[in-house]
Amino acid sequence: MKLPKETQRYCPYCKKHTVQTISTAKQRSRSATHPLSRGSTARLRLRGLRRGSGNQGRYSKPAVKNWKRKTKVTKRITIVYTCKECKKSKGIKKAIRSSRIEIGQTVSK
Ligand SMILES: [Zn+2]
Repeated sequence: MKLPKETQRYCPYCKKHTVQTISTAKQRSRSATHPLSRGSTARLRLRGLRRGSGNQGRYSKPAVKNWKRKTKVTKRITIVYTCKECKKSKGIKKAIRSSRIEIGQTVSK
């Protein structure tokens, strides 16, 4: 997937359209307890997680790597827009599924 380095986009902090640079959010390494979990914040919020207190249904299970195999080729890549005026950044709500992404010239997988 190819993307421009900069784009004109609405900034919710400046409350107007500004020039914003595009970058990707750093991929967090998978945890030992949930190596294949789908850990996007949007998905967790939809499931009612990422808020409140308590255990939230997390109890101990056998390790996922013992009964699941990794078959996915593509990764979910979250694009982060950084405003040039206020230097604040905002990620998109839904991550894009892509094997590699090109922003300007730089390629990130
Ligand atoms: Zn701004």
